[in-house]
Amino acid sequence: MSDTMTAVIKREPGPGFELGTVPVPAIGPTDVLLRVMATSICGTDLHIYEWNEWAAHRIRPPLIPGHEFCGEVVRVGEQVRSLRVGDYVSAESHVSCGHCYQCRVGQRHICGNLKIIGLDLDGAFAEYVRLPESVAWKTSPSLPPEVACVQEPFGNAVQTALSAELTAANVLVTGCGPIGVFAVAIARAAGARTIIATDPNEYRLEMARRMGATHTLNPAREDVVARVSELTGCVGADVVLEMSGSPRAILQAFEALRPGGQVSMLGLPDGPIEFDFNEAVIFRAAVVKGITGRKVWETWYETAGFLEGGVIDVRPVITEKLPLSEFRRAMELLESGHGGKIVLIPGR
Ligand code: NAD
Ligand code: ZN
Repeated sequence: MSDTMTAVIKREPGPGFELGTVPVPAIGPTDVLLRVMATSICGTDLHIYEWNEWAAHRIRPPLIPGHEFCGEVVRVGEQVRSLRVGDYVSAESHVSCGHCYQCRVGQRHICGNLKIIGLDLDGAFAEYVRLPESVAWKTSPSLPPEVACVQEPFGNAVQTALSAELTAANVLVTGCGPIGVFAVAIARAAGARTIIATDPNEYRLEMARRMGATHTLNPAREDVVARVSELTGCVGADVVLEMSGSPRAILQAFEALRPGGQVSMLGLPDGPIEFDFNEAVIFRAAVVKGITGRKVWETWYETAGFLEGGVIDVRPVITEKLPLSEFRRAMELLESGHGGKIVLIPGR
């Protein structure tokens, strides 16, 4: 094995990434080295690429981005017990400390000292990545690499969707990016009665229909709240899965909710938003759940149930597979909104 590798690098603050040659990561006693087989692109990577306000605040270059990935273990630290060379793994990107209050009470996903691979630690837009044993998830060889690497974002959808009772329910999904569309498929698998999906992007509404939405609404052309009322016999949605982060959609999520219903919120607005709390939440007796990351490891077992069990086929959402060297084209495709999940494949 060579001592150097090809990687996509954010060298310094400012827009863009570059392709470069860097040392293969050194591993500690509790780490493994993974040969990256596939890595998918998240909206967060696009923010780091474009260098928006959030990225300028959060990211300290130099950094190799990329936090959705899978690969083969090629080196094992001397204290690693659960993994061997040759194992096929994906990764929980949120590395928890193991000793804060949340970690000690079984809530590792909201650890007070989280470090995120591809944000705080070098990530997987590279031929190799260092992976702590504590976040490695052994994956069935039945999942091809382009599916194995999207378990991380699929897990976001799993945690959000399964935080509510979906069986026989009227469900509204606001935002049909890859994670929203995954949530549509999960609601379908969970036996929802009606699955109404909204997005201003027609391409993405088509994806939502393919993955099981019973109705799709374009908020740029239709009155979402009125249509949800119509489609639910004037009752409103039992459950809203907010997957857009759009302030407008967040308001609609509450307005379309039936009194006593639940809104599960994953989408991240760009900044603070204005909100009539009394009308939206209190008088509606709404149950509001904020969702972050994936529960470790409950969400991963559920994810495996859906994907390895063949309950959900996510391949229609994976619209491109490109060599790592074509990361610029991938970023442009993502910016255009004419794509689902885009997967990069490292290798010479
Ligand atoms: P994405 O950007 O691909 O999808 C967002 C979708 O929302 C887009 O298709 C967009 O057209 C749509 N949208 C915009 N305005 C809308 C409106 N008014 N009504 C309905 N839809 C609207 O993102 P994604 O990768 O699918 O992720 C979904 C969201 O979840 C993002 O906000 C992302 O930042 C967030 N996220 C949160 C976590 C977490 O842990 N909480 C983890 C991953 C992603
Ligand atoms: Zn912790």
